[in-house]
Amino acid sequence: MNKITIAIDGFSSTGKSTIAKELAKKLAYSYVDSGAMYRAVALYAIQHKLIDDNVLNTEKLIESLTHIKVAFQYNNSLKASEIYLNDVNVNTEIRSMIVSNAVSIVASVPEVRKQLVALQQQMGAKKGIVMDGRDIGTVVFPNAELKLFVTADPLVRAKRRFIELQATQPSITMEEVAENLSHRDLMDSTRTHSPLKQAEDAMVLDNTNLDRAQQFELAMQWAMERIN
Ligand code: C5P
Repeated sequence: MNKITIAIDGFSSTGKSTIAKELAKKLAYSYVDSGAMYRAVALYAIQHKLIDDNVLNTEKLIESLTHIKVAFQYNNSLKASEIYLNDVNVNTEIRSMIVSNAVSIVASVPEVRKQLVALQQQMGAKKGIVMDGRDIGTVVFPNAELKLFVTADPLVRAKRRFIELQATQPSITMEEVAENLSHRDLMDSTRTHSPLKQAEDAMVLDNTNLDRAQQFELAMQWAMERIN
């Protein structure tokens, strides 16, 4: 079967990764969570005290980039890839609120983006990939056969993310989550380099009133149209 590239972009917590994982599973493609890569770099910046009170030491971070190795490794028992920062599994740590609050600042640095985009393009060189993020259809894979732009009502998104995070971070509040999402959306869509925007040839998927099965059906239908 003809292999294609599927690029999924959209605002925070719109369910991009759920669609991406389901498509990848059904099509036997690889799935790459590009946001996890930016989160890993943000974690490095936090660990090395390069970010303090939302102020990033950009120069130091750029100098450190040669020491930052971000890679995915497949976990057989989880049947999913996990992210490693300099050979340490940071899959859970990158989801913390501290990282969520720092990641958009780190992701706005063009040198960081250049390094991660090059890695992402390597991962997708042979097609047969579903990647989600903010600039996948516009910058990473501008020739992707299928581009999705996923949106949903902000309140619905915050509720979904709150429920998801509560399992691992019981002290988290709905206000914190909602504020983080709106702050990241604003930063991600207004930054100078590779801002989040809908690619001209993207299919818009608003899942505010769709359940998981309905949105998957729609995305799968679009994917099969491209593959055939
Ligand atoms: O997808 P996720 O919400 O985990 O992404 C975390 C952050 O990483 C985003 O808010 C954004 O700042 C950054 N990001 C990006 N470009 C991507 C993926 C994520 O700038 N392709």
